Amino acid sequence: MAKVNPGFLDKVKELGAFDISACYSCGNCTAICPLSTEEYSFPRMMIRYSMLGLEDKILSGPELWRCYYCGECTDTCPRQADPGGLMMALRRYTIRRYSLGKIADLFYNGTSAAVTWLVLTVAAIAGIAYFHNPNPDLTKVDPLSFITLDFLHYAGIVLGVVIAFFAIVQLAVMWRSLHKDGIQATLGEWLRSFWDILIREVFVQKTFDECADKNRYWAHLALLWGFLGLFLATILAFGIDFLISVNSGLKIVPHVIGIVSGLVLLYGSGYYLYRRYFIKDSYSKYSHHSDWVFVWLMFLAGLTGFLLDIFAWVNLPWPAYITFAVHLVIVFDLLLTAPFTKFAHAIYRPLALWMSETYSRKEKEQQAQA
Ligand code: SF4
Ligand code: SF4
Repeated sequence: MAKVNPGFLDKVKELGAFDISACYSCGNCTAICPLSTEEYSFPRMMIRYSMLGLEDKILSGPELWRCYYCGECTDTCPRQADPGGLMMALRRYTIRRYSLGKIADLFYNGTSAAVTWLVLTVAAIAGIAYFHNPNPDLTKVDPLSFITLDFLHYAGIVLGVVIAFFAIVQLAVMWRSLHKDGIQATLGEWLRSFWDILIREVFVQKTFDECADKNRYWAHLALLWGFLGLFLATILAFGIDFLISVNSGLKIVPHVIGIVSGLVLLYGSGYYLYRRYFIKDSYSKYSHHSDWVFVWLMFLAGLTGFLLDIFAWVNLPWPAYITFAVHLVIVFDLLLTAPFTKFAHAIYRPLALWMSETYSRKEKEQQAQA
C-alpha cells in the first residue's frame, strides 16, 4: 500500500507559488500539455498525488523530469491553480529529497542560502588571496603567473572528487527510487538507450523543442553548449600548459572556443535573466531564489570567461588577472554546489529519461512477445 506523507504538500508549497487547492480536476492541463503521453501522464496526476501526500508515487516516476516548464498548462487552467508551477516546485523538492545529508536544504531556505553563499564566496576569495602571486607577469597576460598551474591542478582535482562523490551517491538514491522490479534489461539495452537519450534529450533536447515557446528552447540549448564549451576550453588550455608549453601557439584553439562559448553562454543565461526581470508570463512571473542564483552564476561565469579572453587578447594584465580571480570564485561557487542546487537537474533529468526509456522499450517488447 502506498505510504502517505501528510505534510508533503506544505513542504512543496514552500518552494513555489502555485495554488492547487483551487484545482477541480478538470484534466485540461494534462490534455493541453505537449509533453504528456498516455504512458507518462501529467500534470493532473501529480496534482492528485500531491494533494493525497503520495510522495513516493511522485518520486518513483519520471513524469516530473519530462516537464520542461513551458507553462502552457498554467496558461489554460480555468482555476489559476498553476500546475506548471507545481511541477517546478516538485523538482525543487526532489533535489532536496535526494541530497546526501540534506545539504541541499541549505540552498532552498532564504536565510540559510544567503549565509551559505556568503561563506562559500568568502572562502574562495580567501583561498585566491592566499595562493595568488602578488608579482605576476606584467609584460604580457599570463594567468598562470597570477595563480600557479599547480594550485589550479590540485584544487581542480579536489573539487572534481567532491562533486563526483556527491553526484554519484545522489544519482544512486534516485536510481533506487525509479528502479522497477521485474523488468530486466541487458547491458546492451541499457547502453543503447543511454546513447539515444544522450543525443536526443541532452545534446539536442528534442522533447523541449516540442514546447510552443522556441525562444526558451534555444536559450536552454545555449546554456548547455556554452557551459560545455567553456569547460572544454579550460581543459584544453590546462592540457596544453601542462603537457606542451605555456607559450604554445596551440593556445589559440582554447581562446577561440572560450570566446565563442562565453558569448553563447551569455546569450542563454542573459535570455533567462531578461525573461525573469521583464516578461511576467506564466513561466517567469514567479522565480524561486535558487533559480535566480543559478542563472546569475551562469551569466557571470560566461561574462568573466569571455572578458578574460578579451583582456588576454589585447594584453591588459591587471584587468585580466582580476577578472580571472572573479571567474575562479564564480566557477567555484557554481561547481561545488552543483549537486545540491538547480544545476542538479542537469544530471537528474537525463537519468530519469534514460531509465524510463529503457523500461518503456522493455515493457513494449514484453507485451509484443506476450
Ligand atoms: S487545468 Fe487546472 S483545474 Fe483543471 S485539472 Fe489542471 S490544475 Fe486542476
Ligand atoms: S509546464 Fe508545460 S511541460 Fe510542464 S506540465 Fe505544464 S504544459 Fe506540460
